[in-house]
Amino acid sequence: MSETFYGSDFGALEAFDPEIAGVLVSELDRLRGGLQLIASENMSSPAVLTSLGSTLSNKYAEGYPGRRYYGGCSEVDKAESLAIERAKALFEADHANVQPHSGASANQAVYGAFMSPGDTILAMSLPHGGHLTHGTKMSFSGKWFNAVHYGVDKDTEDIDYDEVERLAKEHRPKVILAGGSAIPRLIDFEFFRRVADEVGAIFWVDAAHFIGLVAGKAIPSPVPHADVVSFTTHKVLRGPRSGAIVCKEEHRAAIDKAVFPMMQGGPQMHTIAAKATNFKECATPEYQAYAKQVIANARVLAETLGEKGIRPTTGGTDTHLSLHDLQQVLVTGADAEARCDAAGITLNKNAIPFDPQKPNIASGIRVGTPCVTTQGMGEDEMRTIGGLIARAVVDGDADPEHAVSKEVRAEVTDLVTRFPAYAR
Ligand SMILES: *Cc1c(COP(=O)(O)O)cnc(C)c1O
Repeated sequence: MSETFYGSDFGALEAFDPEIAGVLVSELDRLRGGLQLIASENMSSPAVLTSLGSTLSNKYAEGYPGRRYYGGCSEVDKAESLAIERAKALFEADHANVQPHSGASANQAVYGAFMSPGDTILAMSLPHGGHLTHGTKMSFSGKWFNAVHYGVDKDTEDIDYDEVERLAKEHRPKVILAGGSAIPRLIDFEFFRRVADEVGAIFWVDAAHFIGLVAGKAIPSPVPHADVVSFTTHKVLRGPRSGAIVCKEEHRAAIDKAVFPMMQGGPQMHTIAAKATNFKECATPEYQAYAKQVIANARVLAETLGEKGIRPTTGGTDTHLSLHDLQQVLVTGADAEARCDAAGITLNKNAIPFDPQKPNIASGIRVGTPCVTTQGMGEDEMRTIGGLIARAVVDGDADPEHAVSKEVRAEVTDLVTRFPAYAR
């Protein structure tokens, strides 16, 4: 079958378009050559990548399995039905919609399903760990809806639950949203459910970041508590770059209509097939062990950085990511990111709660362990990596030719040689 399969053909690309073929190769070299600590990234399997480069990309399939607006959907219907059934089983959900093109598209559909322009949503503020699509003024969500934001408590640096309850009672939002991009701790879903019930709101969880840990049964699931859960499939989950939504049976029709035709046109059937494969991978004992290791690694990495004066906010992490305050070592987030980059370590600057710096400078960094754990690294390697980050951040330089950049890069090379990405 594999010899005759006409899908991804690197030789054909190389022959016709060496410039783009070169980018594919040099990007793989970049991935293999350094440490990837961006908390929202992962490395999906060759099995997942195969569907993405297949002829399923050609197919128009507006509608849902068995109810399409185009002919010729018999085969893609099988892929989408598998993806739906596997998502429902994996998350023990009443219903799944696997068509959203991304996390932001999934979120757009949730707004479309439950809110009209001018309605109020209560969500976490972006500077405290939320997301652009959670009602910021730059996004459709803040332009078309009335967003009220809660933040974190000044002392614990974790979600200010008292503020959530107070704002919910004051503003009576249509929807209450939990989740974000820089929340290192578990979220109390029971609490949000109770508050939502008290004010008659829909309870929505944006699980984009941590859904992989839920799939791997490493942390509690929001699915039993929330009306609707949106997520990305490419972060800890390790699938293709895309999105999905699971919800209670009563919201099935509203969600399906909001994804198509309200927000999207034709679904990306190659990506949906890849999501189906990813959901199958996530149901294996190997993936469950992976999810637990991601957290164990994140804890050690956060602790090691803390010992070097790079303090983890909230004192640590329960998830795959930690957020670190650099003020004690007198380095900005932007400088730390550049110094690490010069040393072969990819991570991102991040605002910390109550950050005195502008967002494009920031006082913090965010680190995550999904990629390095996929590469097979464990707690010992996290101690090493914590030490390397601290050296690059505190003593290093944005110049790759600086002695510290070179020293750290040599140790990074040693690590990624022992734990290769996409091993040959
Ligand atoms: C990543 C993320 C998104 C957006 O996902 P995209 O696929 O980049 O559109 C939405 N919400 C949260 C909380 C995220 O972390």
